[in-house]
Amino acid sequence: MIVTRFAPSPNGPLHLGHAFSAIVAHDLAQGRSGNRGGRFLLRIEDIDGTRSRPDLAGEFRADLAWLGLEWEEVPAQSTRLGAYAEAAERLRSEGLLYPCRCTRAEIAAAAIKTGPDGPVYPGTCRGASFAADGEVAWRLDMAEALRRTGPLTWLDARAGEQDARPELLGDVVLVRKEAETPASYHLAVTIDDAADGVTLVTRGMDLFPATHIHRLLQELLGLPVPTWHHHPLLLDETGDKLAKRRGSPSLADRRRAGEEGCALADDLRAGRLPAGITLGEGLSERS
Ligand SMILES: [Zn+2]
Repeated sequence: MIVTRFAPSPNGPLHLGHAFSAIVAHDLAQGRSGNRGGRFLLRIEDIDGTRSRPDLAGEFRADLAWLGLEWEEVPAQSTRLGAYAEAAERLRSEGLLYPCRCTRAEIAAAAIKTGPDGPVYPGTCRGASFAADGEVAWRLDMAEALRRTGPLTWLDARAGEQDARPELLGDVVLVRKEAETPASYHLAVTIDDAADGVTLVTRGMDLFPATHIHRLLQELLGLPVPTWHHHPLLLDETGDKLAKRRGSPSLADRRRAGEEGCALADDLRAGRLPAGITLGEGLSERS
């Protein structure tokens, strides 16, 4: 049985790109009328402590219902902090994490390589000895992790089999400095998808490189390995991922204005997009 998920963060209202992502995930599991027999899950990724707005989760549910989707809701990330801490402790006790006190500016200044997510951490704190108290982030020792797992592959339903290349992203942060946001996106979603029984991780092409890390974490933590489906992105006139700051109305705005949500969903399914918006892979089309 196919189990997919839509996992928005309540940092701002949902827009057209989110609607497309939710519809893709929904239809892969259930088709339009539940005829595929799979499960479509909603997970609220609410651990960005500084930006998270709990009131938005209710709006998200109203948006999905307005689009004509049915879903099962699974626990929000804020209920799973214990599981994230446990996983981090396991990796730490196995010698795979090290503390880092560098600031973003220091990393940008010292970085020699740029990866898919920006400057690659140059390893400044690896092997340094300082008391890991106060505000430290914990980074994955990528070389050591890869030495233990050996080569890995993963399967994308659209792009085919991929060699896992987590080294492109370097020693990523798994436990963030900020006490209110203890787990990084990488650690949290890897644990969530396993806990929720997701078999087809459905998300945009912008997260394609992150999958290299997630595949590695699954191996290190002994978690099941799903298949991925990275869908194309809605792009604006400049070829950037459609974002709410570009002034496009949110789904909630459209809903309140009386627009027909099911008709909008059908337009998105059929590729009928508003003027100026195109569907593209995002990564290669960005300069
Ligand atoms: Zn550092």
